Amino acid sequence: MDDKYRLQCLGCWLPFDDHYTLECPAQCTALVRTYYRNRQLDIKDLPGMFRYIDWLPVEHSLPLDAGPVSYRSEAFARELGLEHLIVTFSGYWPERKGNILTCSFKELEAQPTVLRLREKGSGILQIASAGNTGRAFCQVSALTGMPVVVVVPAENADRLWTTEEAGSVCLITIEGDYTDAIQLGREIATIPGITPEGGARNVARRDGMGTTMLDGTLAAGRLPDYYFQAVGSGTGGIAAWEAAERLIGDGRFGTHRPELHLSQNVPFIPMVRAWEAGRDWIRHEDMPDARQAIAAVSADVLTNREPPYGVKGGVYDALVATRGRMYAATNDEARSAGALFTETEGIDLDPAAAVCVASLVQAVERDTIDTGRCVLLNITGGGYERVREDHEQHRIEPFLRLPAGASLDDAVRHEIAGWVASHA
Ligand SMILES: *Cc1c(COP(=O)(O)O)cnc(C)c1O
Ligand SMILES: [Zn+2]
Repeated sequence: MDDKYRLQCLGCWLPFDDHYTLECPAQCTALVRTYYRNRQLDIKDLPGMFRYIDWLPVEHSLPLDAGPVSYRSEAFARELGLEHLIVTFSGYWPERKGNILTCSFKELEAQPTVLRLREKGSGILQIASAGNTGRAFCQVSALTGMPVVVVVPAENADRLWTTEEAGSVCLITIEGDYTDAIQLGREIATIPGITPEGGARNVARRDGMGTTMLDGTLAAGRLPDYYFQAVGSGTGGIAAWEAAERLIGDGRFGTHRPELHLSQNVPFIPMVRAWEAGRDWIRHEDMPDARQAIAAVSADVLTNREPPYGVKGGVYDALVATRGRMYAATNDEARSAGALFTETEGIDLDPAAAVCVASLVQAVERDTIDTGRCVLLNITGGGYERVREDHEQHRIEPFLRLPAGASLDDAVRHEIAGWVASHA
């Protein structure tokens, strides 16, 4: 293999070159995975997450100093009675060199995705988001000038801010929830010149998120025994599994796959229900009264109704391969576990990260882990209060505001196409 990496379909094992390819060229439904030429991870002297460029599907780096940071917890670990707890933090926490200014690990997806499109694809990126993903892509757009089209639920529009003025963002809001935004986004992606970012099917997103596993493993000096993360789509869980496979292939970090301990927020817990029933598919009954359930959770970034769960190479396969587990945490459990973490470690958390902390508390209480072994706690977002003290936040004004149930009529299509033409 002369190239830095190739892609390979996990269904038919066809290898192929990357043209910002999201699907198997033979039309399999399976996920496509990256295979890197360098089997051993060589840490580069580059800013932020680009330390791990060896295992990112990009040729160049961005001059952005934003990546995951990891450390061994003392105070919180003592509270829980854990002997070896590694916290991997993606957010803003200058005391620990955490410099993701949009405060979530979605920026680890956004940076390599924007670059990969520039290097291997074409068109303007379109993203549907509950807020965190949109904010991350807006920030990368603001810092690189790459244009993006972002669709979010209207009531989450205030989550879209950047620390520098964003001049190339087309923000579209729709009355409804995350699923409505995804649906509208799908229609918008049919406008010529627009490229869907691809979600879990985009290897840049997965390998970008996988840097949390790389960072945590380097901090621990070995692969952790357990990996804890809150999931909505589960893309981060899949990414952690894939990164662990690469680290095993590296040979220096152990041979044991970290167990994935993934969590969702009650009452919206489709993957928990499917997993506990032993199914590799999600049924309608796994998410009863979805709309109300989604409205009731404290962490709405975890409310994806169509996660890549049963797809080959998806969440179910990741759980099986790692002998993993799923947890369900209530808002109250998340709130009190999050408060304990903030008290002991000294940083505010994204509500989704609080769900993850609650799952770790449950694991200790219910003896689903051995407290003597090494735990990687993926704090996927935090530092919102902290970043406000140090950085300006520019709100992004919507280009279009669409009502509930809106679909793309010709007038709306035309307006978006006009924006695309003037930013291509
Ligand atoms: C998106 C998000 C998650 C869930 O990520 P997955 O894509 O489901 O792996 C968890 N925490 C935060 C803060 C997020 O923004
Ligand atoms: Zn295939």
